[in-house]
Amino acid sequence: MAVNIEAYNSIIEELKSKSVQLVAVSKTKPMEDIKALYNAGQRDFGENYVQEITEKQPALPADIHWHFIGHLQSNKVKYIAPFVYLIHGVDSLKLLQEINKQASKNNRVIDCLLQVYIAQEESKFGLDENELQEIIANLSSLTSVRVTGLMGMASFSDDLSKVRNEFHNLKSIFDKLKSQELPANCQPSILSMGMSGDYQVAVEEGSTMVRIGSLLFGARK
Ligand SMILES: *Cc1c(COP(=O)(O)O)cnc(C)c1O
Repeated sequence: MAVNIEAYNSIIEELKSKSVQLVAVSKTKPMEDIKALYNAGQRDFGENYVQEITEKQPALPADIHWHFIGHLQSNKVKYIAPFVYLIHGVDSLKLLQEINKQASKNNRVIDCLLQVYIAQEESKFGLDENELQEIIANLSSLTSVRVTGLMGMASFSDDLSKVRNEFHNLKSIFDKLKSQELPANCQPSILSMGMSGDYQVAVEEGSTMVRIGSLLFGARK
């Protein structure tokens, strides 16, 4: 069994004391591994690929919260709209408009996090602060989505002071957003930052939700 239940229990304990939520990132991992973690009590799972999440969702328990954490293409939103619990990586108004349209078709409101670009090192997906404000300014007409927070990825770097700095920046953007006047469907309470290699730094910098894969499921090929 590749799933590390011992690591899971200790991470859960550590996060619980800080009121941080865990999304177990199960991309590329088999259903058996997800079931093993489900049986240990985990309900929130994160996937990166539309085809994979749509195969896994109907085959696994209905009370799983499925988080989509990958880069989402507008033309694929329709496949996950019926069941997705939280979309982490919204990085354009066009994508948010499509999520709104598909949510409405499914008679639901879909919760989303706006992905902010914070990594200095490499180019990653995400909004800058102006683009973030532009989306907020257009949000009130998109009544089938709700923005519940922000998501970010730090540089892949051994330099944890750089990583800390990037998380710190995202936390300030998050705090600034929370303090401004917002449309009714913008209720930022979630700050999704931190992965296997940097989640402790992220939590110290104010993360409320970490996305952890390899520490729980083992390395991916
Ligand atoms: C794969 C992935 C993770 C988990 O990465 P690990 O290093 O295995 O913990 C977290 N967030 C995103 C966006 C990912 O793509």
